[in-house]
Amino acid sequence: MSGGPHGASGGAFGPVESRRASAPRCLGVVAGAAEGPTVVITGGIHGNEPAGMLAARAVLADLAARRSVLRGKVIAFTGNRRALEHGVRFVSRDLNRGWHEPELTRLHAAPEDALTTEDHEQRELHREILALEREPSRLVFLDLHTTSGPTEPFVCFSDTSANRRLACALSVNVVLGLEKVVGASMLTWASARGHVGISFEAGQHEDPRAVQRHIGAVWMLLVAVGALDAAHVPAEDAQLAAIRPSPGSRPLVVEVRHRHVVKVGDEFEMLEGFAGFDPIEAEQIIARDRRGPVRAPETGLLLMPRYQGQGEDGFFVVREVACTPPWST
Ligand SMILES: [Zn+2]
Repeated sequence: MSGGPHGASGGAFGPVESRRASAPRCLGVVAGAAEGPTVVITGGIHGNEPAGMLAARAVLADLAARRSVLRGKVIAFTGNRRALEHGVRFVSRDLNRGWHEPELTRLHAAPEDALTTEDHEQRELHREILALEREPSRLVFLDLHTTSGPTEPFVCFSDTSANRRLACALSVNVVLGLEKVVGASMLTWASARGHVGISFEAGQHEDPRAVQRHIGAVWMLLVAVGALDAAHVPAEDAQLAAIRPSPGSRPLVVEVRHRHVVKVGDEFEMLEGFAGFDPIEAEQIIARDRRGPVRAPETGLLLMPRYQGQGEDGFFVVREVACTPPWST
């Protein structure tokens, strides 16, 4: 069927046979015996990042045996189903952008045939979240991502005090200000609606540790929001060890100073060998594009160097800020 799961065009991807199996929108729900928050996990908002989806499935399976000690509910959604089938970041546009009310209103009012693949995906996800909002429990979001280059795990979020507290609970690097320089993400929208939510970046897409780090982040978040006692986390020490910085280092708190925007036709290419949180010097050549060398605009740490063909973020420069978790707020 050329229309695919949401009626969108198969486009440039060729025969159906070449696609991977489609994941369901809802990966599962585990409802606990006692009241508590609803934890909403999303994996694969970017289709070349399946690790979060795999991790959510694994945690749900383990949680099913822990219903009696779970407070609240855990539900997991697949993000960009069509892009996941093809192993690409997105088909028409980034699904983690355009989360603001005018755009969402437009999506729901538009005729089916006027919608792109990601419009369909966004509309479905949005409906699922609105349905959860009608339930009495508070919502806590955990959006699971990976990066094209290697990196220590980190969290980013809309900068509210509740989100800061949650981010600190994971004891990983904290990146402030990312939401101010990229477009309106799903969690920016959720935070604007009063929900709590953080994004967790687990490392490189293919890094086998990424799934384990995601799993660790989910368990730690469940403890942090009071859904589960630490004693009920399977192999708690291993979960913590999976996400914490390497021995001898401490979690950093950094803020975004610069975003290098890649435009269509730029032929942007990072130089090989960079990883997230690598120190860089002002004027250091770190990438090339059709105009020539791309230099770091200032001294700092490199964040999310882009080693893939899609997306308009080439790299970010961040700098450590003088505040050490836990914050006093
Ligand atoms: Zn992502």
